[in-house]
Order: sequence, then structure tokens, then C-alpha cells
Amino acid sequence: MDPKIEELSQLSPFELKDALIELASSVENRLMLNAGRGNPNFLATVPRHGFLQLSHFALRESERSFAYMPEGVGGFPRRQGIEDRFEIFVRENSHHKGVKFLAGAVSYVRDQLGLDAGAFLYEMCEAALGCNYPVPDRMLTLTEIVVGAYLRQEMIGKHPFVGEFDVFATEGGTAAMTYIFNTLRENHLLAPGDSIAIGMPIFTPYIEIPELNDYRLKEINIEADPKLGWQYPDSEIDKLKDPAVKAFFLVNPSNPPSARINQKTLERIAGIVKERPDLIILTDDVYGTFADDFVSLFAIAPQNTILVYSFSKFFGATGWRLGAIATHRDNVLDRLISQLSEAQLKGLDERYSSITTTPRELKFIDRLVADSRTVALNHTAGLSTPQQAQMALFSLFCLMDIHGDYKAAMKRLIRAREAALYRELGVAPEHNPDDVGYYTLLDLEYLGGKAFGQDFVDWLMKTVKPTNLLFELAKESGVVLLPGGGFGTQSPSGRVSLANLNEADYVKIGRAARKLIEGYYERFKSKK
Ligand SMILES: *Cc1c(COP(=O)(O)O)cnc(C)c1O
Repeated sequence: MDPKIEELSQLSPFELKDALIELASSVENRLMLNAGRGNPNFLATVPRHGFLQLSHFALRESERSFAYMPEGVGGFPRRQGIEDRFEIFVRENSHHKGVKFLAGAVSYVRDQLGLDAGAFLYEMCEAALGCNYPVPDRMLTLTEIVVGAYLRQEMIGKHPFVGEFDVFATEGGTAAMTYIFNTLRENHLLAPGDSIAIGMPIFTPYIEIPELNDYRLKEINIEADPKLGWQYPDSEIDKLKDPAVKAFFLVNPSNPPSARINQKTLERIAGIVKERPDLIILTDDVYGTFADDFVSLFAIAPQNTILVYSFSKFFGATGWRLGAIATHRDNVLDRLISQLSEAQLKGLDERYSSITTTPRELKFIDRLVADSRTVALNHTAGLSTPQQAQMALFSLFCLMDIHGDYKAAMKRLIRAREAALYRELGVAPEHNPDDVGYYTLLDLEYLGGKAFGQDFVDWLMKTVKPTNLLFELAKESGVVLLPGGGFGTQSPSGRVSLANLNEADYVKIGRAARKLIEGYYERFKSKK
């Protein structure tokens, strides 16, 4: 193998991608097809219209509260009479879809969520203007209720769920992950040398972060089986029964296989949690909204589970940086903290003494907020308020979409792309009700074997390094896929994101991959 490629295969798939892109775009007048990115090429327009119109209204409010100043100085919006003024604004601008959406959102908040419409409008105006630090720092009060209702609809649905949960608005799922790792360590819930179980294959940072010098955790892999449609076999799930395993981190539906955990396995995990009430679960359910009737582990084992959600994928909003962490009000994290040794608790009293006189009562989720700004800057913690306003509007958009039209459109889009890809590859994907189809893994062994037989696959694996195949694909056809190995798949594969190109491009990708493998098949035949 080319020594440069050998060296590059050590990189995270997201870094390797740059080398592939360079190669793929090296041929003049050829379009590069980058299916390496999870970033969607679609986005939700209506709640963005809503945000723009909200900003218009908020500015009107600001300008009216100061006598007109030509220098461009406004004041704070006023709570009193805001509903009436909003009604006038709606009447004057009712032709605008953003205004229609906003008017619907305000009545939803009043009629369906039972909140004070004026208070909500006031919170949204202040938020859109960004004229105050986020207070409360964890999340604006009514925004938390709105986003909570959205998470409840999408992550819990009809599943029984007793009690309430808290939400912390973060700068995307990425920040959520960083904060959680840090606070688990600072609060002695995870210490160097501890074992954590990881649901594999997985979004690479979940493999890389625990290995860092910051954490030095021991990773126990819970392997999904491609032959089971990427479900976790019972024998793998049962590794969680070992009391040495402190936490279980997973992405559900998974990235990259894009399979959601089936009902049977959810029940098995619920059973294990009953035997092991101290187990901490972190579930990253960014793709849950692409599934029908999704039920998160947060619904199955609420007291043990930290939920991470991101608005990036479903709303096409990676640049907004919108994510959330949710924890049940009665949870294992707070309980385990209260059971730490007196010496450890004293240390934590000191750590958080600048922000509360009763540090032992500080909830895990509020520790996350404080730690996110190195405790000392807790008073300026929190997600920017315009971001929170957009997050509330994204949430309301889906809450108001009672027929699920947006979700249906999303699913249609990505599934048509998946079908086009496999059609060209010449292998029909097996029907799998738990496949969410945001990504797909082209598994060399599985697909190659299906199309050309096991002898060929064995020969191919001996002849060529899988990373080389990805480089060849980039060079010959301008197609960029990420190596599945970087996400911890056991056999060589390429991750195709079904989110960021158009259907016709997936036709070309399928054709290019087929051509590459057929070329090798010819060589294999001539050797025989
Ligand atoms: C894309 C992705 C994220 C990142 O979310 P951001 O909100 O964009 O930071 C987190 N987790 C998983 C599993 C993802 O695929």
C-alpha cells in the first residue's frame, strides 16, 4: 500500500475525508460526489420564516419602548399589552407564512400547552433580540417547556413515562457530549480505569473521547451484528450485567448503520437496568425523529438515562448549533453523587460553593451547566437566546404538525435515495423495519459476497486494503465515502450518507461502486 495511505488510515474518518476529497476533486471538469458528510442538504423553512418574523415583531417592540431615536437605539420589549400588539402585527402581515406560523405557534402554546401566551411572546421577543444573558442559565423557562413537549412527543411518544424531566439547551449535540463527559468525571461518576460499554459501531467521538488522557476509560464493545440488521445480540447486551461496567454509551438509531434498537432488545436492557439500578446510560438520539413511533431508552429507563438530542439533522440546522440534554428529575446520577465519600463530597462542595450555598442539592444537570463554563462563569452560562428562540420554533413546528407531514417528507427523501443507491449496486437491501436510512453501510463482505460469492470476497480482502478501495473510488469516480472501520465496524465498509446529495447522485455512486468491484471481479476471474 502507498505509505501515505497507510499513514492516513490511522486518522479519524472525518480527517481522512479531506484526503479523499482532494483526490476526488483532482480531475478537472468532473463533479465530486461527497457522500461522506452527515450534514443534510435539506432544511425546514417554515420555522425559519417564523424566526425572521419574530425578529421583526421583536424589533417593533424594542423601537416602541423608547421615544424614536434616529441613532438606532431601541429599548427592551414590554410585557404589558404584548399580546394585543402581536394580534395587530399578525393582522397587518397575515399574508406572510412566517407570521401565520407564529400566530399558530402562539395559540398552540396557549391552548395545547396551557401556557400564558403573553409571557411566551415576551420571552421569545427578548430571546430573539438577544438583549439579556440567558436566565435561567440552563434554559429559558417557557422554552424549556416547549422543547420538553417536543422531546416527549418524539422520544417517548405513547410509552408510559412517570414524572418530569429537566432540559439543558446546548450548542449542538457536540457540546452536549463534551459537557457530559466532563461533568461525569468531575463528579467522580467516571474515573480513569473505569469500564464503560459502547454500542458499536458508533459515531467516532464516542470511541475517541474516552481514550483521551483526560478520561482514560476502559472501553467494552457491545457489537451490533450486520447479519441481524445491525441489532445487538442478547449475548452482547448481557455484558451490561457486569457490575464493573459503570456506563453504557450508545447512539440510537445508530450512526453509521442507521438501525434503531428493536423492541426485544429495549426490553432486555430494561430488565438489566432493574438488576443494575446504578448503571448510567447515555443515549444520543439525534436520528430518532427519522423513525416511526420511536421509543428512546430515555423512555424505557428514564431514571438511568441521559438523553442527548440535536436539531442539526432533522431540521437541516447544523450551523445553528442546537442541541439538548435531558435528565429525569429522579435519576441515578444525583443518587450516586449523594453516595460519594465524605471527602469527595467536601471537594465538590468547594467546587460549587461560589454558585450555591447548598451545593449538595445541586442537580447533576445544573452541574453540567456550571461545569460548561468552568463553574466560575456560571452566571454567563447557557445557550444564546436567539438560538433558544429558534429551538422553540423548530419544536413547535413539529408539535403543530399533527399529521406528521414534515417527518413523512424527510423519510421519503432519504429512503428514495437509499433505494436508488441499492438499485444501481444490483443488490436489494433486505427489508428491515428498524432501518432508519439516514446513512447506509456498504459492507464489502456482505454485499460483495451476495453479488459475487465468498471466494471472491476472500481473495479481495487479501489483495487490497479497504481504505485503498475508498481512495480508488475517489480517484476513479470522484465519489467520497467514509471508512466504516473508523466507526468501529468489524468488516471493511464504506459509510454513505443519504442526507447530503440528490437522488441522481446516489444513482452515480451506486454505479461507481459497482464498477469498481466488477473490475476486481474480472481480475479475480482471470487469476483463477
Ligand atoms: C451529527 C451528530 C451529532 C452532532 O450534532 P451537532 O448538534 O451538530 O453537534 C451528535 N451525535 C451524533 C450521533 C451525530 O450523528
